Amino acid sequence: MGSKFDFILDELRQLKDSGLYNQIRTIESSQGAWLVVDGRRVLNLCSNNYLGLANQPELKEAAKQALEQFGVGSGAVRSIAGTMSLHLELEKALAGFKHTEAAISYQSGVCANLGTIPALVGKEDAIFSDELNHASIIDGSRLTGAKRFIYPHRDAKGLREVLEKEGKSVRRRLIVTDGVFSMDGDLAPLPELVEVAEEYDAILMVDDAHGEGVLGDHGRGIADYFGLRGRIDIEMGTMSKAFGVVGGYIAGANELIEYLRQRARPFIFSSAVTPPDVAACIAAVRLLESSDELVKQLWENAGYFKEGMKSLGFDIGHSETPITPVMLGEAKLARQFSRRLFEEKIFAQAIGYPTVPMGKARLRVMISATHTHEDLDFALNVFQRVGKELKVL
Ligand SMILES: *Cc1c(COP(=O)(O)O)cnc(C)c1O
Repeated sequence: MGSKFDFILDELRQLKDSGLYNQIRTIESSQGAWLVVDGRRVLNLCSNNYLGLANQPELKEAAKQALEQFGVGSGAVRSIAGTMSLHLELEKALAGFKHTEAAISYQSGVCANLGTIPALVGKEDAIFSDELNHASIIDGSRLTGAKRFIYPHRDAKGLREVLEKEGKSVRRRLIVTDGVFSMDGDLAPLPELVEVAEEYDAILMVDDAHGEGVLGDHGRGIADYFGLRGRIDIEMGTMSKAFGVVGGYIAGANELIEYLRQRARPFIFSSAVTPPDVAACIAAVRLLESSDELVKQLWENAGYFKEGMKSLGFDIGHSETPITPVMLGEAKLARQFSRRLFEEKIFAQAIGYPTVPMGKARLRVMISATHTHEDLDFALNVFQRVGKELKVL
């Protein structure tokens, strides 16, 4: 590499010096309660595989069948020759699951946000965004050229004030929020946001990536949880978390979905998801439609673990979902805690700045339906031991 790349070496050195360099671990097994990570068998407390579907037999069987029937590739972008009957079947299944008129599937949740937001608003418009929204919402918004206003976290009153001041002079208003905030596990105040959106004639979009498969009847997501079916204009989701596979989608009214098929750039310019993936996604939606057993198990496990952590004396924040932050404060302490856990066969990720604010570093524990009480007891024991050792308890 020539000297024109010196800046890269500088940047990497800086990341390492400041402790922000991310050592990416390698998973050498299938996903599940236990993983083989860098040669070590460890209890998995950091994947988004909420329901254990990533390695579920029915999904694997569906993928195998699709592999035989349709092959490994989709051959083109959706809008040219990549739309297979499977893609349409998935979209129909998703619309049914979310109780919306229609749905469009994308290659990922990130693509769904990057494709949808710029299709809806442009230079003459304004976006009103929660300060803790996911990076893909921020990036999607940046692509629009619209005015962007950040309202305080979960603050419907703050949102109303910005809309009152800034919303009237623009052509269209888009309010966008995460449903479940992924670092704290808290919920957007959706009933209030719906009211504000209706009052100011704004489009309301909710990113339900951590809500579906988790919240509401059979894990239908945050709109169902709050009894707001039909009142959220745009529900965005991912197939990569509770659904266990890969892909993203938007669910909403017929005309919205028809329009996105014409306008969403990742849909038009990036090739379609492969047949085995789509077939596994369909199987995941069907499985959730037919049984809520895994969703119930997830909540039971999360309750058990959170109670245990609280009675040990850990600060576990204000999560309203199975996401369990273990608040530690300093990034260095969080990293040290995570390293010690790993030595004791627990895989829990430390999260620090810039993913969360300075001084709010934490471990982010992700509970899954695949954990047994024995697994969780093992985790609680190790957390207690390491907590005392590092003087957190
Ligand atoms: C994970 C996540 C996404 C991205 O979904 P992918 O399918 O992994 O691209 C988008 N929004 C939120 C809130 C997420 O947590």
